Amino acid sequence: MKSTARIILASALILLAVSCEKNSPKTEHVILIGLDGMSSADFVREEMPTVSKLMDEGCWTLAKRSVFKTSSAINWASMFMGAGTELTGYTEWYSQVPELPSRVVNEHGIFPTIHYLVKSQMKGSKVGAVYEWDTIHHLVDSLACDYFEQANGLPTDITDKAIRFIKNEKPTLLTISYDHPDHEGHATGWGSKSYHKEMEFLDGEIARILTAIAEAGIAESTTVIITSDHGGIGTGHGGITPAEYETPFIIAGKGIRRGGEFAESMMQYDVAATIAGLFNLKQPQVWVGRAMDQCFE
Ligand SMILES: [Zn+2]
Repeated sequence: MKSTARIILASALILLAVSCEKNSPKTEHVILIGLDGMSSADFVREEMPTVSKLMDEGCWTLAKRSVFKTSSAINWASMFMGAGTELTGYTEWYSQVPELPSRVVNEHGIFPTIHYLVKSQMKGSKVGAVYEWDTIHHLVDSLACDYFEQANGLPTDITDKAIRFIKNEKPTLLTISYDHPDHEGHATGWGSKSYHKEMEFLDGEIARILTAIAEAGIAESTTVIITSDHGGIGTGHGGITPAEYETPFIIAGKGIRRGGEFAESMMQYDVAATIAGLFNLKQPQVWVGRAMDQCFE
């Protein structure tokens, strides 16, 4: 082969490799852990050593904003659905059926969720959702899930169920929706002693999940996200104070750089878009979320 031809061939191969890398998924597994009512204002790194370690290893912000109202169903919907309440149609804290019609629904009759995107675009993917609060059932698109289960009420049951699924199936996507520390916030106040005690407990549960990921042999190929639907102030939420609308977003593991705190603005619906970005999925036009790709390697 002539040297010019060799150079042309080599350049073409390099270009091909670069474009493949750009289009290939950045991770194999995403485990999203959502803590209902975890406020940035009351987040204390020292009482959550496991979460704190993930912050050291990955990227994070404490300024992710909830959509309004700063209530549960509205924000779990946005977290999974990549869009705000005006498009998803879920407008109340307890919404199980959208009060205004979802702007778009898929063949399952629900606004497209990240679970659906993974299932429909990734051949052979394993998708799961475990949760404590029954309304989550209506916000996930259970028909897109291989595994979908509500915890039985014991504080450790949701973790046990998540661990079983991680070990048995090595999921492509698993969302774990804890219903705490929201309860402690409503009972004794955001930032109260029992609220902080619950955060310590939840950190231990997150540690159990990370151990399960390691024991499943997928630690090197898994991305972990810790986030929340909304915060709280006094014994409530739903309003427009930073304590209610600012929640943490922490991401670490496969495909994520050790970038520390990031300054870019982030909304609740960017969580779904970030997972889609990690898997290199095509977002539906109705989604408005943006991947936090400054966190990607
Ligand atoms: Zn909530």
